[in-house]
Amino acid sequence: MKILVVNAGSSSLKYQLIDMQTEAVLAKGGCERIGINGSVLKAKGNGKEKVYEKDMPNHKVAIELVLNALHDEGIGVIKSMDEIDAVGHRVVASGEYFKKTTLVTPEVLKTLEEKTFELAPLHNPAAATGVRACMEVMPKTPMALVFDTSFHSTMPEKAYLYGIDYEDYKKYGVRKYGAHGTSHKFVSAEAAKYLGKKPGQLKIVTCHLGNGSSISAVDGGKCVDTSMGFTPLAGVLMGTRSGDIDASAVEFLAKKKGLSHSEAVTYLNKKCGVAGISGVSSDFRDLEAGLEKGNERCALALEMFSYQTKKFVGAYAAAMGGLDCIVFTAGIGENTPIVREGVCKGLEFIGVEFDSNANAKKNDGSIREISTKNSKVKVLVIPTNEELVIARETAELL
Ligand code: ADP
Repeated sequence: MKILVVNAGSSSLKYQLIDMQTEAVLAKGGCERIGINGSVLKAKGNGKEKVYEKDMPNHKVAIELVLNALHDEGIGVIKSMDEIDAVGHRVVASGEYFKKTTLVTPEVLKTLEEKTFELAPLHNPAAATGVRACMEVMPKTPMALVFDTSFHSTMPEKAYLYGIDYEDYKKYGVRKYGAHGTSHKFVSAEAAKYLGKKPGQLKIVTCHLGNGSSISAVDGGKCVDTSMGFTPLAGVLMGTRSGDIDASAVEFLAKKKGLSHSEAVTYLNKKCGVAGISGVSSDFRDLEAGLEKGNERCALALEMFSYQTKKFVGAYAAAMGGLDCIVFTAGIGENTPIVREGVCKGLEFIGVEFDSNANAKKNDGSIREISTKNSKVKVLVIPTNEELVIARETAELL
């Protein structure tokens, strides 16, 4: 069985074609600048890469180009479109409308478009555009929606509710939904496999640390709490996002800076986080370079990020009543030893014995143990693979 995984953004479309027998990636690539001048598709297949500089006025043209690339004489990996058994679409937000991976029907698409756009105005309309484009080009192929939020649907009410009027939660769906669910699901399952345990036997804190970051408590294979909220603005400070902040401070800042409510939220999403604290960059590689040069605000940004992440680890150990494993994943989690050390240092009291030498080793794409042999709590670095989860869920649904 071959599954095409599609991740559509407002002006981009990334894809992977995965063979489910071997779980090998047969082809992958991405279209950039869809609907903008200078659109381009960079595609890989058969161990080769090809760049198509073609006008892509919309996502339909982009997906047609992707399918052509999959057939291409040089980099092509299939002979006919019939070889693609299904398409799995990444969708950021489900609200309470979808709890799990869902087959696309006209009804489902209607709910996605009418109910969920306001929950993720940058992401969900793009995903729906991607689904419609694929349906036009491949009308007979089954399509699945795989939600970033699904893994968090097991959170109990006490974890996902905000302290607002319960009737308002019911009426408007204002609650914590979480993010990066496919990643948290993947790395927590991989951790159990690596440790030779069943997921049901473990209490794990998964730290997905990238441009967007979220931390989850995974008890017995199920998510019981997560740091992101109603939108991906909550939790730890991130590249450009503030993370958790007192709502009254937002109103105060908006007044002082002469911003409307929505401008203030844009400010919190785009101008804050480690970029705002350091005044240098949202990229952790730049922060590390700044630290080496003695830039104190880069040092502060790194310290705040590790400190806030550490607090979630402690809180979730308390929430689960124990801790067996901490997992680091995504761009920063996989590649930034100083952050992992900052999070784990001082956690000896809950059984973490950190191995600084193992931690300092470069990322080689494999699962790495960065706690000592005797550490009661295992600390692992696990490369995430969200596309594989999307493909697996789509295959399971079929
Ligand atoms: P997202 O998918 O949310 O856009 P990533 O998971 O790719 O983000 O993480 C991006 C972050 O990872 C950046 O802050 C970047 O500095 C950091 N990072 C550090 N080292 C590397 C590396 N070798 N490769 C990629 N990202 C890295």
